[in-house]
Amino acid sequence: AKYEISKRTFLATSLNNLPKILSPSNGRFFKNLLDLLKISSLKTLDKHNKSYFRSPKLRQLFNRYATYNGSSPYKIPATFALIPYVEFGFGAWYPIGGIYEIPRSLEKLARELGVSILTKTEVKKIVVDGSRAIAVETPDKTLKAHYIVSNADGVETYRRLLSINNRFVNREPSCSGFVLMIGARKRFPTLAHHNIFFSKDYGAEFEQIFDKLLPPDNPTIYVCATSKTDSTQAPDGCENLFIMVNAPYLTEKVNWSHYKKPYRDLIIGKLEKAGLDGLEKSIEFEATITPEDFAQNTYSNKGSIYGISSNGILSAFLRIPNKSREIDNLYFVGGAAHPGGGIPLVLLSARMVSEMIVENSLGIQRHGH
Ligand SMILES: Cc1cc2nc3c(=O)[nH]c(=O)nc-3n(C[C@H](O)[C@H](O)[C@H](O)COP(=O)(O)OP(=O)(O)OC[C@H]3O[C@@H](n4cnc5c(N)ncnc54)[C@H](O)[C@@H]3O)c2cc1C
Repeated sequence: AKYEISKRTFLATSLNNLPKILSPSNGRFFKNLLDLLKISSLKTLDKHNKSYFRSPKLRQLFNRYATYNGSSPYKIPATFALIPYVEFGFGAWYPIGGIYEIPRSLEKLARELGVSILTKTEVKKIVVDGSRAIAVETPDKTLKAHYIVSNADGVETYRRLLSINNRFVNREPSCSGFVLMIGARKRFPTLAHHNIFFSKDYGAEFEQIFDKLLPPDNPTIYVCATSKTDSTQAPDGCENLFIMVNAPYLTEKVNWSHYKKPYRDLIIGKLEKAGLDGLEKSIEFEATITPEDFAQNTYSNKGSIYGISSNGILSAFLRIPNKSREIDNLYFVGGAAHPGGGIPLVLLSARMVSEMIVENSLGIQRHGH
């Protein structure tokens, strides 16, 4: 029920519409308020799971869904119990060719619709005239626009592109990640497509990530072997492994260039002990991505990989609104904006913004007639 209600409310409309939706003059005011109360929760996901499962292992499994948007099960509201509902109810799907096929398909569709895309082009500034965003500046040109949609991290858009340093900086970033990508010269028969090697003490792990802001010394490890489903992903007899652990967002507490190698060794050692015999020796290729790399390569706020965290009862309402409140014609999509991080929600933010822009331009035209 929480999913169905969220789908027609929180996941379908921008926060900018909240005052309208909850205005007593709205004919659906009581229904909307009731919906909101039904999906809100004062309980954490962990407490919710405790009330359903006696087995500590099942609790841990269902607590893991908090990490799907970079948060802690001990802090996010039970509303997010809708994530396992989506996974179990609709199934887990694999795009043939890998997850990168999703952006490739979007690119193809956009080009077919006449969109021109400039790659390897950094936006340096959003030009504002009075209270209106009117153009973006790249290193070699200024592109004028009626509407500007920022898909860069929202906090960083304010800081880097608008030189406004105090907007949304007090929102807690989501966690970051530490990733190993390995090409192995052998196959690991015990692995499935998706594998999770859980830590013994989940509470301690999340305390390290979100309170102490340190990489957990006994991390839960996710291993994805897409070649189990899609044989084109690795040569015969070989396996491609995407290995990821949750890591804290960047602070001065961790120097990743020093910690990268020991942490990589800890993870490989743990996986060997967990049954991936001969993993280290089988490595033909490997690459590591640290939180510092995420921050440098994508300009994400403190290396966060899901935008703003959902830790805290009100966090859902504290995200960056899809339409800027202070700059006309400036819109936000992506993990730091409403409704949140993770590819499905990020795509929903794009849908909300395109609907808002269409409504807005139709409104302007109607007004003009
Ligand atoms: C290792 C990892 C695993 C993940 N696993 C999953 C998963 O299994 N399922 C899931 O749903 N989500 C997953 N996520 C999260 C998901 O990838 C993100 O939530 C989503 O990609 C965020 O989309 P976005 O558009 O906000 O940001 P991004 O995908 O980061 O896109 C923003 C883009 O803007 C570019 N950019 C920034 N600033 C500028 C500028 N000034 N000029 C030009 N370009 C700029 C960046 O380089 C970047 O390419 C994962 C993330 C990571 C890192």
